[in-house]
Amino acid sequence: MTPAVSFQKVARHFGAVKAVDALDLDIVAGEFFAMLGPSGSGKTTCLRLIAGFEQPTAGTISIFGERAEGVPPYRRNVNTVFQDYALFPHLNVLDNVAYGLMVKGIGKTERHKAAEEALALVQLPGYGARRPGQLSGGQRQRVALARALVNQPKVLLLDEPLGALDLKLRENMQEELKSLQKALGITFVFVTHDQGEALSMADRVAVFNDGKIMQVGSPQEIYQRPKTRFVADFVGSSNMLPPDFVQRYCGQRRWGSLRPEAIRVARAATGEAVQARVSGVSYLGAATRLALDTEGLRLHASVPSGTTVPEQGDAVVLTFNRDAIHLMDEAT
Ligand code: ATP
Repeated sequence: MTPAVSFQKVARHFGAVKAVDALDLDIVAGEFFAMLGPSGSGKTTCLRLIAGFEQPTAGTISIFGERAEGVPPYRRNVNTVFQDYALFPHLNVLDNVAYGLMVKGIGKTERHKAAEEALALVQLPGYGARRPGQLSGGQRQRVALARALVNQPKVLLLDEPLGALDLKLRENMQEELKSLQKALGITFVFVTHDQGEALSMADRVAVFNDGKIMQVGSPQEIYQRPKTRFVADFVGSSNMLPPDFVQRYCGQRRWGSLRPEAIRVARAATGEAVQARVSGVSYLGAATRLALDTEGLRLHASVPSGTTVPEQGDAVVLTFNRDAIHLMDEAT
């Protein structure tokens, strides 16, 4: 099947800065795709390249099989929802949503009807007469979404669209965006630096660092089988195990990663176990995070808060399944 968006050896350099570097990527039609990475890793530049606000310095981008080179943004069948929403304060909600259709020369009755439908889609029916200034942050976010959906793009680009919302609203909107995407079947490309958001919403995630993609995969693959230390560290937290440790338990001299929740902490154990001393206890709500000193190695474990949690200074033993140690591809 033709990918919705295809990057072939795409680069975007700004002088010496390689914002995007020799990137190969296919985004599948109809998928919810997340671009995840730290600030400055090139995610926004990738979105702008797809939208056509930015031109590659090398390589080619295709949108549904057509080369995007020389195609202006408004002819790309792609819309963007910006983090700051970019609504026109002097226009009411209905005219904000209908704006793209007006630019295309579509008559008032028709474009207002389409705008009403888009507002219903984002759960804001009847809000058309208000000004953006009379809406909450979450409602403005929905208006921006309706405006981007009104002319039925094939690809919707979302640049940290939930960044300005408080946690509770953010979680609600994550669920809503996801079900909206599934209902509409439009390809969503979502930029975020929040790993929880990427894992919970996306069908596939690309992890960016320094203008390059470190790994692309399902949330489960990215979390459970990180290929590099960077991915293991950036997506959730992970214990990095040096080759000596890994050799002892897995027989291979490689770096490994072990998730904090895969470590069981007890006062006594039968079978093979690691002796440790609790050097820190942090209560996180549902879970408690323990810092554990063992064999010259500091490990972190996450245990459910409801159970008996050891205290700082306690001697404990750690057990885990060998399978939970994930071997890294890279040598270091
Ligand atoms: P954030 O999460 O902070 O938005 P990002 O991952 O989206 O970061 P980009 O905005 O794509 O990162 O930027 C990647 C790199 O390219 C950064 O080092 C940035 O400073 C640089 N960059 C982006 N746009 C320009 C520009 N117009 N001129 C010069 N450098 C730029």
